[in-house]
Amino acid sequence: MIIETRWIISTIRMLLGRYYNWKLLIHDNHKINPMLNIVLFGPPGAGKGTQSEKLIEKYSLKHLSTGDILRAAIQKQTPLGLEAKRIIDKGELVPDETVIGLIAKELDANKNVKGFIFDGFPRTTLQAQKLDEMLTSKGIAITMMMALVVDHQELVKRLLNRGLISARSDDQNVDIIENRIKVYNDYTKVVADYYKEQNKYKAVDGMGEIDEIFERLCTTIKEYQKD
Ligand code: AMP
Repeated sequence: MIIETRWIISTIRMLLGRYYNWKLLIHDNHKINPMLNIVLFGPPGAGKGTQSEKLIEKYSLKHLSTGDILRAAIQKQTPLGLEAKRIIDKGELVPDETVIGLIAKELDANKNVKGFIFDGFPRTTLQAQKLDEMLTSKGIAITMMMALVVDHQELVKRLLNRGLISARSDDQNVDIIENRIKVYNDYTKVVADYYKEQNKYKAVDGMGEIDEIFERLCTTIKEYQKD
């Protein structure tokens, strides 16, 4: 009888231990790994850059924008920059291996950060897979993808308005803007499915004022953190 009771108690303990480990692994990953690694997703003009600036300030994150890195290379007229300009000016995508290499360098250079906001990356499923591989090798993971949802008309309006002040060559012409949105629909939109499969996808209404959109993003993060 005593032996049976001991056996029952130790079995219950073992099962509770396994349940606890499973819960930590599956549901409470952020309690073990508190880094906040966000993919801020959406078509050109969705507000990724604007919202990234606000998020990095509030959550002390490192902003990694492949578009910004490429534009810096264009400014410096490096060979990479000259090659990228040709592609960017048409509204097409820079080759996967180029942008993956850029992100790999940034991940290596930023070891002690609270987390990353990936803005404009990944733009293809291959980029998403490679990003996961790079993060896994460092013992970290994407926390979630937040996707800004914005109407087509509003995207074009925002990009043309930005073109008036930013002098970005790819914001100056409606045909190039339309091509960037088409490229997004043809190659990039599908990246959302990659994160949906991992249960990491959150859609966020990207219409309205900058501050109200920011509040929605913060609420999404808060909901994740209290889970
Ligand atoms: P963005 O500033 O994110 O709108 O990017 C501007 C342009 O840079 C895009 O239209 C692409 O030509 C190029 N680009 C930026 N990020 C990527 C990426 N992850 N993959 C391929 N091309 C990119």
